[in-house]
Amino acid sequence: MNATVAKRLPKNYKLVYEILRGAGHGVHFTMGEIYAHAKRKRPAIGFSTVYRGIARLRDLGWIDEIELPGSDSAVYELKGKPHAHFCCGRCGEVADVHYQLPARTIARLAARTGGRVGEAMVTLRGLCRRCSV
Ligand SMILES: [Zn+2]
Ligand SMILES: [Zn+2]
Repeated sequence: MNATVAKRLPKNYKLVYEILRGAGHGVHFTMGEIYAHAKRKRPAIGFSTVYRGIARLRDLGWIDEIELPGSDSAVYELKGKPHAHFCCGRCGEVADVHYQLPARTIARLAARTGGRVGEAMVTLRGLCRRCSV
């Protein structure tokens, strides 16, 4: 964490960051889950404060926002190495998959669109091991 930026960050936003950092990599939270955690630590905290905190941390690049196809709510996680996600259509589990689209593939696809690709996300959908038995 950049110390100068951290000093300027409101303490409620820092709390939101600590929740994600405390959980570590590979743990994905919905906005509602982050709010529930924050409320346990600081009961007076409002939903909009948590919401704004998440948006700020995302803009700072400290956390990632993952939009899952077929789900109305995004999940959030501590910023880490780029990876893919496996999403279970039955229990809703979201798991990290160590995979990254090769830069060559992204460049080739970008050339086809004629535009510029900012980021590429890979999401696999199906049934997790527990749900598929
Ligand atoms: Zn499942
Ligand atoms: Zn992830």
